[in-house]
Amino acid sequence: MPARPMDNDCIFCKIISGVIDSACVYEDDDVYAFLDINPLARGHTLLVPKGHYPTLLDFPPEDGRALTGAMRRTADALMRETGCGGFNCISNNFGAAGQVVFHSHWHIIPRFDGDGLMIARPGKYKDNEEMRQLAKSIRKHSA
Ligand code: AMP
Ligand code: ZN
Repeated sequence: MPARPMDNDCIFCKIISGVIDSACVYEDDDVYAFLDINPLARGHTLLVPKGHYPTLLDFPPEDGRALTGAMRRTADALMRETGCGGFNCISNNFGAAGQVVFHSHWHIIPRFDGDGLMIARPGKYKDNEEMRQLAKSIRKHSA
């Protein structure tokens, strides 16, 4: 098995290796999860693959099963402990999306009815035709 990539200057690599302290909520061979120091909600957790992959586009698809398994487990634990009614799983990728730490990670954010946290949806399509044409163009890149 190839060695897992890591970066000595990366804050999340330092957290995973224990050089920097963190409030761990879950750990297995592939994934480390800890409380976000600046939470959007009580229990806001960061789920981090142990390998240093800067963005989701660098993340090996074959590691996805371990990641989603850990995500389920952690989200379930958050629901039980915080009593939240739901949760958002969000990954910011690249600066335009607000990524600050370039070690791929997922935010798991507990949600409560009426908590006021909102994702704005200012985008609009002119009509169905515009939507179908855009989907067709995207498919050319994803094929
Ligand atoms: P992102 O904008 O997706 O790159 O998110 C980075 C997240 O890491 C932010 O929500 C920060 O609050 C969080 N963060 C940065 N340093 C630490 C740390 N030492 N312990 C816990 N969370 C951290
Ligand atoms: Zn890293």
